[in-house]
Amino acid sequence: MATVGFLGLGIMGKAMAANLVNAGFDVTVWNRNPEKCKELEALGARSAASPKEVAAHCDITFAMVSDPEAALDICQGENGVAAGIGEGRGYIDMSTVDDATSQTIAETITQAGGRFLEAPVSGTKKPAEDGTLIILAAGDKSLYDDATPAFDVMGKMAPFLGEVGQGANMKLVVNMMMGGMLSIFSEGMALGLKSGLTGDQILDVVSAGAIANPMFAGKGAMMLAENYSTSFPLKHMQKDMRLAVSLGDKLDLPLPTAATANESFKQALKAGFGDEDITAIYKVVK
Ligand code: NAP
Repeated sequence: MATVGFLGLGIMGKAMAANLVNAGFDVTVWNRNPEKCKELEALGARSAASPKEVAAHCDITFAMVSDPEAALDICQGENGVAAGIGEGRGYIDMSTVDDATSQTIAETITQAGGRFLEAPVSGTKKPAEDGTLIILAAGDKSLYDDATPAFDVMGKMAPFLGEVGQGANMKLVVNMMMGGMLSIFSEGMALGLKSGLTGDQILDVVSAGAIANPMFAGKGAMMLAENYSTSFPLKHMQKDMRLAVSLGDKLDLPLPTAATANESFKQALKAGFGDEDITAIYKVVK
């Protein structure tokens, strides 16, 4: 079994790395705040002092950090992944970033002699814990083949989507639709309640018809319970909406609905809800 590294032990990375340890992989972890490594150490992982050290020690290093800036930070620089990767080793960035960031990382890694795959995921905290993520892989096919046993542990499917950039783009398409849906759903819930309907009536009718989906059912129940405990931090959803709208700009494609939803997420950020769940968008609507 390959030795694997994991960089970034936030909500998602912690669960994904734990599944790799529990499946028997030899796992070395690193997190910017080293406190977060302790839980993984207790499960049997070892920890390292820098991304460079992890990449130098492991056949394949995975990363799951917040945004493009963080993804570049851990890759570049004297203690970054590229400084340690060496000939033939693999780096798989699973963070949600834009295609240009992913391409920059791919170039940095390949120039250092390594192989690169982008593999952002669809699915939130629970699918990360259950190992049922949808992994959107693109880049070096040989690395994809080598990583398949680890992907099987972390996810329920891992389509190979082609050249670097296509995984990032697929992820932004999915999350742009998700953010738009959540935004209009919040408005529907607020309108229904204000007009005198009960939350249960609204959710029952929505669940029975053509617009039924697991997100409306799960997030709707959370909104009614005023439970905003974080599975997917709202600040990361706003980042994804921003990156999707900017991809539309780049491709000269108008995205008026996504742009409006992005503004709603920006309002929620400004109201101080960035670290709460995406469901907190409902608070600014109502
Ligand atoms: P999170 O809980 O906020 O964790 C973020 C991680 O990034 C932490 O380990 C943090 O380290 C690290 N980080 C941030 N800035 C850094 C920097 N400059 N250098 C090094 N490390 C840095 O986020 P998450 O929910 O796990 O999300 C991680 C990624 O997955 C994001 O790209 C997000 O969009 C994507 N995603 C999330 C979900 C979800 O439902 N949560 C679903 C799909 C995809 P510290 O602990 O030191 O702060």
